[in-house]
Amino acid sequence: MASPRPIIQVTDLTKVYKTEAVETVAIDNVSFTINKGEFVAIMGPSGSGKSTLRHILGALDRPTSGTYILDGENVENLTDDALADIRNRKIGFVFQAFNLLPRTTTMKNVMLPMIYAGIPKSQREATAKKFLEMVGLGNRLYHTSNQISGGQQQRVAIARALVLNPSLLLADEPTGNIATTQAEEIMAIFQKLNSEGHTIVMITHEQDIASHAKRIIHVRDGKIVLDGNGHKQRKIHN
Ligand code: ADP
Ligand code: MG
Repeated sequence: MASPRPIIQVTDLTKVYKTEAVETVAIDNVSFTINKGEFVAIMGPSGSGKSTLRHILGALDRPTSGTYILDGENVENLTDDALADIRNRKIGFVFQAFNLLPRTTTMKNVMLPMIYAGIPKSQREATAKKFLEMVGLGNRLYHTSNQISGGQQQRVAIARALVLNPSLLLADEPTGNIATTQAEEIMAIFQKLNSEGHTIVMITHEQDIASHAKRIIHVRDGKIVLDGNGHKQRKIHN
């Protein structure tokens, strides 16, 4: 078997928010690795540090200390411009609120990142169509965002996240705004994408949703308290 290729390597990662009155340790000295082909849920209650971790893993923010290597590139000390560049090249984002352009067709929404990336029109169209078919929306190519359901909008967002071939699909509460049956469809799509080799990290506070991942990292008070799956869960003692 080929040796695993790390996509995320964080070591001794800490994030402290400082205001005039208080310091909050949102992420407290965590270390973990996520390899190519994994499907990981990061789970924890409100206030446990999920959003903070997502901002750092998504190259939207820098840690206070520690290192973060994203697909072979050190991220912890980059400038804002360099962070934006690595984010665009390596990460496909899926948000709770879909973040689609309103009154815009699914095709156009999915083609948008390729327009910014300078990909020629014919290739943009073919690629958008391929990914929309992959998420089961081949029959909704020219519907606008307001003409499709929440679950369908999230599927458009997933197609959009994939068109530039990211190293990592990073989803933040991807089913938070949609009905339960449609949430199951989104999880089935993630599992299919993962079986095809996509690396997925999903932030959630819901056990039901997390259970679709192959590995669950439980965070509490900024620390990892459990990492693994089912019987293979490994308790972490800090
Ligand atoms: P979660 O997403 O799991 O709810 P967060 O990462 O948002 O957790 O928050 C972790 C901790 O950090 C909480 O105690 C929160 O109050 C604090 N926190 C989050 N963002 C800030 C900020 N910008 N300034 C100060 N404290 C913050
Ligand atoms: Mg949060």
